[in-house]
Amino acid sequence: MEEVGTGLLDRLDALQRVAASAPGGPLLIVAGPGTGKTRTLTHRIAYLCAELNVYPEHCLAITFTRRAAEELRERLDGLLGPVAEDVTVATFHSLGLSILRDHAAAAGLADGFGIADDAQRAEAKTEAGEDRDAYVKLLRQQNLVDLDELVELPVALLRDDPELVERYRDRWRWIFVDEYQDVDAVQYELLRLLSPPDGNLCAIGDPDQAIYSFRGADVTYFMRFSQDFTDARLVRLTRNYRSAAPIVATAVQAIAPSTLVRGRRLDPARLDPEAALVGLYAAGSAADEADFVRRTVDDLVGGVSHRSLDSGRIDGRSSTVSFSDVAVLYRTDAQAAAIVDALSRAGIPVQKRSHNRLRDRPGVGAIARELRHADGLGGSLAARVRLAGQVLAQRFTAPTLDAAPTVTPEDVWAAVEVLTPLAQRCGDDLPLFLSQLATGAEVDALDPRAEAVTLLTLHAAKGLEFPVVFLVGCEDGLLPLRFPGKPATDDELAEERRLFFVGLTRAQDRLYVSHAARRTRFGTERDCRPTQFLDAIDAGLFERLGDAGPRKPKDRQLRLL
Ligand code: ATP
Ligand code: MG
Repeated sequence: MEEVGTGLLDRLDALQRVAASAPGGPLLIVAGPGTGKTRTLTHRIAYLCAELNVYPEHCLAITFTRRAAEELRERLDGLLGPVAEDVTVATFHSLGLSILRDHAAAAGLADGFGIADDAQRAEAKTEAGEDRDAYVKLLRQQNLVDLDELVELPVALLRDDPELVERYRDRWRWIFVDEYQDVDAVQYELLRLLSPPDGNLCAIGDPDQAIYSFRGADVTYFMRFSQDFTDARLVRLTRNYRSAAPIVATAVQAIAPSTLVRGRRLDPARLDPEAALVGLYAAGSAADEADFVRRTVDDLVGGVSHRSLDSGRIDGRSSTVSFSDVAVLYRTDAQAAAIVDALSRAGIPVQKRSHNRLRDRPGVGAIARELRHADGLGGSLAARVRLAGQVLAQRFTAPTLDAAPTVTPEDVWAAVEVLTPLAQRCGDDLPLFLSQLATGAEVDALDPRAEAVTLLTLHAAKGLEFPVVFLVGCEDGLLPLRFPGKPATDDELAEERRLFFVGLTRAQDRLYVSHAARRTRFGTERDCRPTQFLDAIDAGLFERLGDAGPRKPKDRQLRLL
């Protein structure tokens, strides 16, 4: 456990300290990537509890993904020790679920309600057609709620019950929200109900990393924080501790044309004069690009056959890089195949995480354990997965349990949903199923400690950091992503640029940006241009790492036609 007390804020810089020790009332922390937002957020909670006698049980910290919530929880444990358990750490979904569990009847639900899985949702949708209410009714008949309803129903409940609102406001007097730039209308409404306009609401985020508008997130909630909450205090963090200076400079120039933060500053704290420039590779094809990644990983790790498993930072030439230090980021899942192929063939271990709605799946391990435990039960494997899910969901709903257990019934049902197709494919072969789970072949459970190169979509990479990052497919049409016959709007283009920014800023020590001259998209091989986003960046920040050579005249003519 870290030392609690006067030393608590010593590990923060001056601005982080101002943010962490600010008095109560609305507080907005606007901070760029790598400026230590999570660090500041956890230290603020720890400081309030340890120094200002705030009760941990009065604190509610909200993040967007289960993984981020787990990380928050771990860091709080480290700072506060056992009392950290009294802080409620939740995702919007798990928060909504716990409110609904406490007030199921008032929300029109029967006790022990479950979360509808994909199949159940699809079935209800087919039956109900366009009629949303009919759809909900069908789910209710099975005592189920839709995932979206986990936030909608508590909002409806609280809107009609001012007394209940007061009870929750009394319970959670201090609220902290990370990645506030990505809240959507319903989540925003929930926060407004839970926090009075002059409440102790601390929102942290970076408008330039708002990348979820396709899912209903709206950065304007962030922008109007000071209007929504009375006398809001604003703190800006500007020092980037994550990335080497050339990476910070590249990112700052990349976002400049569409930054949403007036007077944005991002100053590198790391000023190593030996820091490598950003590597830029012009590949001939997607296969060539994948081979570039393979070659470079091989070089960095020191050759697969005699690789070092020491995980160390790249600090000058002598130190080592391990596979787990490396991430390959891309815009669309379809790009992963070529990379997986090239790396796997060279014997480089990979783990892939795709971005989809239920991307964090902590329930999977519990289900696998339950299956092993109940080996010998009859029924198809898919049915057994479902049964295991039911058992676990009930267990995790037990009122003895912590308000924010590591695994919630929601997680379990999400895991059941993901595992069902895999179970069906494995027939009745439990060992095969378990081994597939263990190797992660079909399920994207990302283990940050696994000794493997991590493959991620840009959306899934948010908030993470890696010593070595490859940002592949930096081509017009791919990043920014465009579909045939559908020109991008200015807003879409700006969001794609923010996505590019998020990608660049995941890198700590080395960043490689690549694009291919030809790539198969929508079934045909096409000529590609480097992304227009590169135009905003000084060529001097890049080191060109080889070229596919001059294009053949034939290609050029084809392009002119
Ligand atoms: P993102 O916007 O990408 O989510 P962030 O602002 O949340 O980034 P963190 O992930 O909290 O940034 O911090 C980035 C890195 O900088 C972490 O490795 C963290 O430990 C380190 N860091 C943050 N503040 C300090 C500090 N004051 N001294 C040293 N290292 C720091
Ligand atoms: Mg963060």
